[in-house]
Amino acid sequence: MPNDLHYDVIVLGAGVAGLSLASELSPYLKVLVLERETHLPIRKFWLTNHKSVELNPELRPFIDSNYTQMDIIAYDLSAFRCHGSFYLWDTRKLTEYFVNKINGAGGKIMFDCTFYSYQNSHHGDLPPKNWSS
Ligand SMILES: Cc1cc2nc3c(=O)[nH]c(=O)nc-3n(C[C@H](O)[C@H](O)[C@H](O)COP(=O)(O)OP(=O)(O)OC[C@H]3O[C@@H](n4cnc5c(N)ncnc54)[C@H](O)[C@@H]3O)c2cc1C
Repeated sequence: MPNDLHYDVIVLGAGVAGLSLASELSPYLKVLVLERETHLPIRKFWLTNHKSVELNPELRPFIDSNYTQMDIIAYDLSAFRCHGSFYLWDTRKLTEYFVNKINGAGGKIMFDCTFYSYQNSHHGDLPPKNWSS
């Protein structure tokens, strides 16, 4: 297998979960992200509470807007109100930031690439007997 097909970590899906995980790991490990769509998820909506910004101040430039109250409406029109400090992210800017961090660290994102299955081609060392997760 050519050397550039060897990765330490393969992340499945370039949604916010996959991209944020891959961007965190890529400075330390060689990371590949497989995404079945042909593009980044630019039309999704991601909200988090204020803690995410306190813990990750470098993400502050990618906030779209801040709310102190949210009305959540379900498909059956049930409505729920939440109070707090909520950030709506600018999906395009946030995903661009993650992608640049991944690419800048030598990671790779492959689009139009659906994960199907895997096979064990090499048995690594067994964890020590007293190992626990
Ligand atoms: C109708 C709707 C409205 C929503 N509105 C809001 C909102 O207003 N605010 C908010 O905060 N959240 C909202 N959400 C939730 C938000 O979209 C999700 O919480 C968020 O996108 C989850 O991110 P994720 O990375 O876990 O998954 P996803 O964003 O779904 O990412 C998963 C990725 O994996 C890829 N994938 C899947 N299978 C494979 C495979 N086999 N091989 C390769 N790639 C694969 C998919 O193409 C996708 O890009 C909404 C969700 C829905 C459905």
